[in-house]
Amino acid sequence: MNILAIGAHPDDLEISCAGTLAKMKLAGHEVFLCHASSGDKGHYEIPAEELIPIRQREAQQAGELIGCSVISLGMKDGEIFSEHESARTAFIDLIRSVEPDIVITHSPNDYMPDHVAVSKLVFDTTFTATLPAFSNRYPIAKKVPALFYMDNLSGIDFQPTIYVDVTDTFAMKLNMLRQHQSQLVWLKEHDNVDIVDFVETLGKLRGIQAGCARAEGFIQHMAWTRPNAIRFPV
Ligand SMILES: [Zn+2]
Repeated sequence: MNILAIGAHPDDLEISCAGTLAKMKLAGHEVFLCHASSGDKGHYEIPAEELIPIRQREAQQAGELIGCSVISLGMKDGEIFSEHESARTAFIDLIRSVEPDIVITHSPNDYMPDHVAVSKLVFDTTFTATLPAFSNRYPIAKKVPALFYMDNLSGIDFQPTIYVDVTDTFAMKLNMLRQHQSQLVWLKEHDNVDIVDFVETLGKLRGIQAGCARAEGFIQHMAWTRPNAIRFPV
């Protein structure tokens, strides 16, 4: 199965669903990690032109830990807008190039505008990628993939419909997250949060809810054609 996970920024997938992605990879599926923005504004001191290659390297290192391809769409932090034609074209090309059976992305009620815009772009373009009128860089997508939303930051107003036991891959998830050294600093300074501890706490809470040591939660987007009898492959 082809699984495409799309986050707004280079560290988002590690925070919310890397334990599940690691399990999917171990189960033999093709897993693609994509971040829409290059993460150009995520630091107080390092300017964009220096920060972008640092963040690309961090994302690459995280992906390499589980042997997954990492794709960057090269957008800019705070400048992802779902109504922009260039963004819609980039997402259509991404969907068509990967031909995913399953797409995982941000919940529509996540905490910051880039996350919400990516959620909308994924919902929109997983459908419009099947329409011949849009873009012509790749052959049109043959199907609308199943769509799953990963836990939002801190789980506020997010009731999972699927729990994945990630006890076995949680150490790997944290290892992937620690590759994003620039963001461990940024999130401490900008949001006053120890993101590794934060992620571990949410993993424990979802684990308590699911009856295991560590879990990740997801909500499947339920609409016509989307469920298409695909089981979450872990
Ligand atoms: Zn983010």
